[in-house]
Amino acid sequence: MSVVVPCFNEEQVIAAFHTELSAQLQDLKLPYEIVFVDDGSKDATLTKLREFADRDHHVRYLALSRNFGKEAAMLAGLRESAGDSVVIMDADLQHPPSFIKRMLDLRAQGFDQVIARRTRDHDGRMRTFLSRGYYKLINAWADVELADGAGDFRLLSRRAVDALLEMGERNRFSKGLFSWIGFETVTFDYQDTPRADGESKWGMRKLLNYAVDGLVSFNSRPLRLAIHTGLLLSGAALLYALWTVGAVLIGGVTAPGYVTLLVAITGFGGIQMVMLGLIGEYIGRVYYETKQRPHYLVRERTPSDAAQRSLPTAEKPVSTTEKSVPADETVSANANANPQS
Ligand code: UDP
Ligand code: MG
Repeated sequence: MSVVVPCFNEEQVIAAFHTELSAQLQDLKLPYEIVFVDDGSKDATLTKLREFADRDHHVRYLALSRNFGKEAAMLAGLRESAGDSVVIMDADLQHPPSFIKRMLDLRAQGFDQVIARRTRDHDGRMRTFLSRGYYKLINAWADVELADGAGDFRLLSRRAVDALLEMGERNRFSKGLFSWIGFETVTFDYQDTPRADGESKWGMRKLLNYAVDGLVSFNSRPLRLAIHTGLLLSGAALLYALWTVGAVLIGGVTAPGYVTLLVAITGFGGIQMVMLGLIGEYIGRVYYETKQRPHYLVRERTPSDAAQRSLPTAEKPVSTTEKSVPADETVSANANANPQS
């Protein structure tokens, strides 16, 4: 099995996490690997990952060239993972490694996705309230079913991972993608634990952006809302106009209602801006997707992995006097020579 761990500035907890996770995995008596993805940390996280890989051959790591966000880091980890079952978990010990055994048991029963859903015991009241409301809204709107508290802590079968990797979209809203792929899914609850050390990387603003992502990532229904609101308001305006004309015809011109006018202008202006922003959000996504940029760039990986991938191989050293041509350059040269291509 593989365990994928995205890490961003986790120097305070990563060692404790590695120790605890390893202890749990060793108990399972299964072949395993731990794939750490350093998401452009500014602290000593990467140094620690190098140390782990040095003394623990189960550890592989990947360092991204900058902070690409947790979604990209998870994707990188999933691509690297080789296990038949893959567990995704946070580095801060908020996802207790002791649940992996239970996940594997459920996996053995044939489930492709095993989700550990956290309770909200340690969240503030306001955040809990907002989250609950948000999930109600999104489940009424989006085509995918999202469960409150069901985050990224989950086990995926190889075919579920392959299905996720097949989705090449740049704007990745994992919660939705996990739900979109389907397969046999089972959920169990666990008591939420606070972060072992360090700080959460999710401020209110990041969460708000994430919320918008969720709403617009899975369908274009919000655009339909724009049409409906527009129709409704136009209808209301027409009725109001008829009423006013009628009133003038019957009672003559009365004092002009400038408050009504002001409220109408600002109110409609606001609605228009929101709708415009909404449309812009979708267009922005189209723009972003068409660029086809990679999801992330890798700056460093486990030395043993790098050795396997780099050329020339150790058995056949290239002499320094001979000019070596990189493999892909030969390919492109051939391709150019062929007018058909
Ligand atoms: N993380 C990441 N890249 C980021 C932000 C977070 O890889 O840009 C990782 C982080 O190191 C941790 C996990 O994602 O392992 C969850 O982050 P955090 O604990 O800050 O979020 P919270 O638990 O507060 O939702
Ligand atoms: Mg956390």
